[in-house]
Amino acid sequence: MTTKRDYYEILGVGKSASAEEIKKAYRQLALKHHPDRNQGNKKEAEEKFKEISEAYAVLSDPQKRSVYDQVGHAGFDQRYTTEDIFRGADFSSIFEDLGFGGSLFEDLFEGMGLFGSRSQRRSGPSAGRNLGYELEITLREAASGVEKTIHVPRLETCNSCSGEGTKAGTKRKNCPRCQGRGQVVSQAGFFSIAQTCPQCRGEGSLITDPCTACRGEGRVEVDRKIRVKIPPGVDTGSRLRISGEGGAGTRSGRRGDLYVSIAVQPDKVFERHGDHLLCELPVGFVQATLGTEAEVPTLDGKVRMKIPPGTPSGKIFRLKGRGIPSLDGYGRGDQHVRVVVSIPTHVTEEEKRLLLEYARLRGEAVNSHNDSFVQKVKRTFKGG
Ligand SMILES: [Zn+2]
Ligand SMILES: [Zn+2]
Repeated sequence: MTTKRDYYEILGVGKSASAEEIKKAYRQLALKHHPDRNQGNKKEAEEKFKEISEAYAVLSDPQKRSVYDQVGHAGFDQRYTTEDIFRGADFSSIFEDLGFGGSLFEDLFEGMGLFGSRSQRRSGPSAGRNLGYELEITLREAASGVEKTIHVPRLETCNSCSGEGTKAGTKRKNCPRCQGRGQVVSQAGFFSIAQTCPQCRGEGSLITDPCTACRGEGRVEVDRKIRVKIPPGVDTGSRLRISGEGGAGTRSGRRGDLYVSIAVQPDKVFERHGDHLLCELPVGFVQATLGTEAEVPTLDGKVRMKIPPGTPSGKIFRLKGRGIPSLDGYGRGDQHVRVVVSIPTHVTEEEKRLLLEYARLRGEAVNSHNDSFVQKVKRTFKGG
């Protein structure tokens, strides 16, 4: 048996700390010790996280806190199981606030073995599962925003029994083990220990005739069509929360939320850098030398862009405000255009004559090796 540290000490607050102070202390510690933020020493962080969360679960509940103040750790542990400690504690609002997501918390704690497996958990009213969905969209859809219909398999309240889990015309029966109290009390020496009733898992009643459609679960899995509105400016990793579109809760528990993770497909023309775009513009050697006006593809269609005389390959021009709209709705990124001067891989006899003339005027030596190379290339292409 390990000795537990004092809950107040764990959260670093005084015995007279207000509910607000306790919440604040927990928020700070949760940010610091969240296992996702401590990939290097995950095991240690998980232990620490479990410890602070337990302390918060007790001290944030006025009734549990008062019991803890009176009897201390030893007495408290005899009255409450770990599951009892966490029952009713509100972590989800804190976690959503901190950006950790609601289901993550549940998964995390399940992984820690605090609750046992999902199926062993009591079947009383509880909130539905948060669901995740990965949605692939194109770069253009990400830029303009888009509405999509997605199909999400999720749990719905069973119609046959309205979620009660009981067969039509039957009712839940009072639990014979605890006489409807949800708790059973046993003696251990001087102490009487109250525990969650193992037969009804604390609900006080049992289903004796389960609904045939849902086998007493109160929920059935259906494929649900959901319209998702994606705002302009999303990027890979953006997560949209669609409130109340997750799994149904059990017995009038609230619905979970749906989290849609966006994955933006790579585009053939544009490379994305935050809200800015980059594209390449192939330009002929003469055009780059003498200057020209070229057509550049943008998200809004083609625009004409001036290439000044003497533009070197690799030079980047900026088209202001032709990038991706920023997600917060203010402004738009730029489009960067990288000029790539293309060198012909094959020239005709006439072109060759002009190029050699050009080289002569520039004083550029074109030696015989290059010459014979051109001849060879020409033979290869012309088959002569
Ligand atoms: Zn019972
Ligand atoms: Zn049913």
